[in-house]
Amino acid sequence: MSHDPSCLFCKIVAGQIPSRKAYEDEEILVFHDIHPWAPVHLLIIPKLHIATLADISEEQHAALLGRMTALAPRLMREAAVTNGFRTVINCGADGGQEVYHLHMHVMGGPRPWAKG
Ligand code: AMP
Ligand code: ZN
Repeated sequence: MSHDPSCLFCKIVAGQIPSRKAYEDEEILVFHDIHPWAPVHLLIIPKLHIATLADISEEQHAALLGRMTALAPRLMREAAVTNGFRTVINCGADGGQEVYHLHMHVMGGPRPWAKG
């Protein structure tokens, strides 16, 4: 499924739910987390609906995952985060995933943080 009409992040991709965007291209969207754990807390998502990290295939999605990861340092630099940052991908129930559309949390800024 490339788009799931019942998925929160697909609705954000489609513009049906507002978000504070930080970056967008043909296959990736980045927006600010609505409940940030850190002074800067971005979510990097593929526009394509992929439910979890367990649903990716190396053949199909390695380049996409590579691009998502490579964006993290660039976006942190653009957000003036200069002292390191944290990336997290929660996967599935035991991984604590709440929104079932693949996303990479990228968090930075001076500590203490609310969480993490
Ligand atoms: P996870 O637990 O990894 O699935 O994380 C889901 C994240 O999505 C949480 O950090 C939420 O705060 C965030 N979130 C939920 N709804 C929205 C929204 N409408 N806009 C931005 N972030 C959201
Ligand atoms: Zn989705």
